[in-house]
Amino acid sequence: MPELPEVEILRKGLEPLLRGQTVARATLHRRDVAVGPDDPPGGFSRQRTPIAPTRLNATQLLLGAKIHGISRKGKVLAIVAVDGRTLGIHLGMSGQLLWDPGRAVIPTNHVHASWRFTDGSKLHFRDPRRFGGLWLADSPESLPIWKSLGPDALKLHPMQLSGLLTPVRRPIKAALIDQSLLAGVGNIYADEALHRAGVHPRTPACDIPQAGVVELGRSIVAILREAIEAGGSTVRDYRNAMGQSGDFQRAHHVYGRGGQPCTTCGTRLEQDTIGQRTSVWCPTCQPAEAFNKLSTTTRNRKDRKAGRSLSPKGSL
Ligand SMILES: [Zn+2]
Repeated sequence: MPELPEVEILRKGLEPLLRGQTVARATLHRRDVAVGPDDPPGGFSRQRTPIAPTRLNATQLLLGAKIHGISRKGKVLAIVAVDGRTLGIHLGMSGQLLWDPGRAVIPTNHVHASWRFTDGSKLHFRDPRRFGGLWLADSPESLPIWKSLGPDALKLHPMQLSGLLTPVRRPIKAALIDQSLLAGVGNIYADEALHRAGVHPRTPACDIPQAGVVELGRSIVAILREAIEAGGSTVRDYRNAMGQSGDFQRAHHVYGRGGQPCTTCGTRLEQDTIGQRTSVWCPTCQPAEAFNKLSTTTRNRKDRKAGRSLSPKGSL
């Protein structure tokens, strides 16, 4: 799934190509990938709703609009027209935005929407698995998907992260990938940032000491910047707007490496499901003290209630 770095690379690549262009034709091939202003916020694609969606007109799809620029929050892009009309784009698991200067050979299957510009160039939204989508609005501020996101992870200040995590008792891994808390970090960069900061992914977010939160905040921003520099991570099918793959997957220390030796200390990396996602960590570089402390306290409380003696060891 494209995360913040991959989406930012798309934004940077597409903005100079689209800025100042006027949309000459807008075509939607599948109504259920688009969410109009009167649709349910989640749209129709995965909702199995019996309500027949109303027809969207090409004006809502930016026909005739002059493009002002492309904004990004977390993993969501917004193509914004000079008159304020906005097209929000989420790539989901397998979405791609493909740029065609006029003669490019691009895959035509799973292309759900296309825009042609007055200079003959085209932009295609392709999404084989259809977890992504398009959101149409009168302004970026009124995009429903935009409003549901937490602060952008690339602009994160470590002290801000402390404020976000203080009320959260869930494991830090689950908190980091919750887009309503912090927008842009997914499975890859959460695992990598936790490894760099030396934080065990099961640690309850509110239990990480202040110094650890600051280190984690710095690690998140640093890793996102490094990944953008390296062209993003191509794990399955991520491509930038020109169809090129990224290079940052070579720099992954833990993601996708469960059972292999830690690149820092050589310990065998552990793997388990946390927050419904596969997580990989190094038991040496990411010690479980904070997690153990809490789990021991919780267990002791339960044991006291049950009249049992205290367990000598924390568990993972
Ligand atoms: Zn290690």
